[in-house]
Amino acid sequence: MSIFTLPISLCKDLTAMISKFWWGSRNGRRKISWVKWDQLCLPKRCGGLGFRDLALFNHALLANQAWRILKNPEDLAAQILRAKYFKGAGFLEAPTGSGCSHIWRSIIWGRSLLKDGLRWIVRDGNNIRVFKDQWLPRPSTFKPITPDPGSDLRVAELLDRNSSRWDSVKLHQLLLPIDRDIVRSIPVSWIGGHDSLSWHYDRKRCYSVKSGYRLALQRKLQDSASSSSSTQKWWSSLWCLNVPPKVRIFIWRVCLNAIPSLANLWARKVVADPCCLRCGVDVESGGHALFWCGGARKVWGLTRFDSFFEDLKNAPVLDVFQAILPKVSYAEFALFCMTTWAIWNDRNSFSNCGKSKESKLVASRAAELLSEFQNSMVALSPPTRSQTVISGSIDWLAPPPGLLKLNTEIATHKNYNSIGLGATIRDDKGKVIIARSRQL
Ligand SMILES: [Zn+2]
Repeated sequence: MSIFTLPISLCKDLTAMISKFWWGSRNGRRKISWVKWDQLCLPKRCGGLGFRDLALFNHALLANQAWRILKNPEDLAAQILRAKYFKGAGFLEAPTGSGCSHIWRSIIWGRSLLKDGLRWIVRDGNNIRVFKDQWLPRPSTFKPITPDPGSDLRVAELLDRNSSRWDSVKLHQLLLPIDRDIVRSIPVSWIGGHDSLSWHYDRKRCYSVKSGYRLALQRKLQDSASSSSSTQKWWSSLWCLNVPPKVRIFIWRVCLNAIPSLANLWARKVVADPCCLRCGVDVESGGHALFWCGGARKVWGLTRFDSFFEDLKNAPVLDVFQAILPKVSYAEFALFCMTTWAIWNDRNSFSNCGKSKESKLVASRAAELLSEFQNSMVALSPPTRSQTVISGSIDWLAPPPGLLKLNTEIATHKNYNSIGLGATIRDDKGKVIIARSRQL
């Protein structure tokens, strides 16, 4: 996968296998895939689950090969490819050529992604063409917005050699204000050196498969509607909630209308009637089953969240969650999500067995389960620095020459009911002679 371009048909087959595993199957029969694969591949903050799009991941891996050839031209593999395919030319300008190997064709494909994120780091400016090369640190394109007059002017000519600053007069003559401001933000090297190509989308300016994949995904999604910043904030909040993972996944499905409500099953021709089994009045959508049906209303009536529903009648489920989150604390919102899950479980119990719990029991059970989960997480979490009590620390002082010094330390951890002892013996130069620790 990191050497060759995978056939599209193979990527589709692998994707189908992953999807089948995720949604599950029973007695050899596949269950319904409630959410499209493209949605699952979105980042979690955009309403997806961050699954890998295999074709894009393949592209990002091959871009890594292209990066290695670009940055390590003396490597044996790079030398062989240069001798075969781009003798006397630069790697970035090398043509695919006819009758080339599958490896070379794959690397050229990876290079197309790499090129989108390459940006020149200015040193002496001799290798960079002002209007044709990517060198400005802006979010994309990295080229000046100023129309290209058709010249091969070099960045070196915009530099004032004597003062090692940008030449303000030339910048004013040649570039639009929006470009001038960006150019001035680029530091000018006092010691010169050669210009170099860097990867814009990583802090270390080196290509990484992670940042390459992110760019490839961004390019794929650029034409589709992106979620607003408030929606992204909501999704991020959901994944940080201190509730069982299955509840987080359930709420994610609820918000995407991807639960087997009767309305959804009817739309897929699984059931003949979408009418709610509990009240027999309305169509059972996800929102109806969880918030508006009589049984659900009774449960919410026992909680402090009930008043929040007054202005949200028949609002989309995601809007309900987004409207309630700012009005409560994260701890309360965790309980809200847990109660939603408990109501759905009660609804399933009624649909499958005709039995339903009392509203009081549903509400109290949700609170109990949440409390049990959160307590278990505290017990399992490793000790943090804030839990470690450190007795007054002072700078270590060496003993007089010829003597040794023994230092001891004791630490307790209340969750594990354990005590740790430690001892170190050092000489007058601070060298550790012996060190031991033990848990009691
Ligand atoms: Zn109902």
